[in-house]
Amino acid sequence: MTTAFFTHPDCDLHIEPPGNPEQVARLHAVTAALSGMDLLRRDADLGRAEDILRCHSARHIDMLRAAIPSQGWVGLTGDTYLAPGSFDAALRGVGGACGAVDLVLSGGAANAFVATRPPGHHAEREIAMGFCLFGTIAIAAKYALDHHGLSRVAIVDFDVHHGNGTQSLLWDEPRVVFASSHEMPQYPGTGAASEKGAHGQIHNLPLSAGCTGAEMRAAYEAQLFPAIDAFAPDLILISAGFDAHHADPLGGLRWDEDDFAWLTHRICDLADRHCAGRVVSALEGGYDLDALAASTAAHVAVLKERGNDR
Ligand SMILES: [Zn+2]
Repeated sequence: MTTAFFTHPDCDLHIEPPGNPEQVARLHAVTAALSGMDLLRRDADLGRAEDILRCHSARHIDMLRAAIPSQGWVGLTGDTYLAPGSFDAALRGVGGACGAVDLVLSGGAANAFVATRPPGHHAEREIAMGFCLFGTIAIAAKYALDHHGLSRVAIVDFDVHHGNGTQSLLWDEPRVVFASSHEMPQYPGTGAASEKGAHGQIHNLPLSAGCTGAEMRAAYEAQLFPAIDAFAPDLILISAGFDAHHADPLGGLRWDEDDFAWLTHRICDLADRHCAGRVVSALEGGYDLDALAASTAAHVAVLKERGNDR
């Protein structure tokens, strides 16, 4: 079976101020890196309010829509900005992730990669932060549970920054195991191993600056993968940030594209064991364009290789 690739040109209309690392060129680097691959290409739909409301308040949606400027930018928290196209771009992220869940669960693709921007894993219920407006991967998890009737969904987040938004949105959700590796100390400051969720279903793996790929692999094998294995998920979602690459300007870890390929293989091993290989991965961070392109290509090549085997 094939691997699906979801994106949408609306994501180019989320234009950040010059110098902001979360820039249009990131998505161009990703799409160029995947241009030669034989993938099932789909446009991401606009996300539906009913799906967003599983994680965010109506007030949050209304706040973002009302804050969209007619031109230029408006600043929210820190380095998170809205441009005229930002609301629709963020909706494409939600629609892409939910559409990828639909396609993979229906057997239309073995697995899927969703490349949209802005990213999502820092957004909390009523807070847009860390370049993120909606908690895309948490919304996709709730969608798989509530709309498709799955019982258990696992999320692996290997972005160099902790997915505080995903953790916050799913803190009380016993049907989701959230497994995150991240540099610590680092933005946003959350992600200590002692943060375990209301049901012990959150597994945080903080890593020190300079952590190598070999150290990461050992830590995943010892701490995160056993938790997912024991949970026996019906679907695995990935918050695929590639800013743990050694070349990334925002992160301090020392992984390379082979490490992202290894992680992808091991996540697919778990998916093969528990859920017929069903994996949906969504782009989060990654701010060195060459490293982002190479890492994404390595990640999707493994998804494709594993999908072809099914
Ligand atoms: Zn990040």
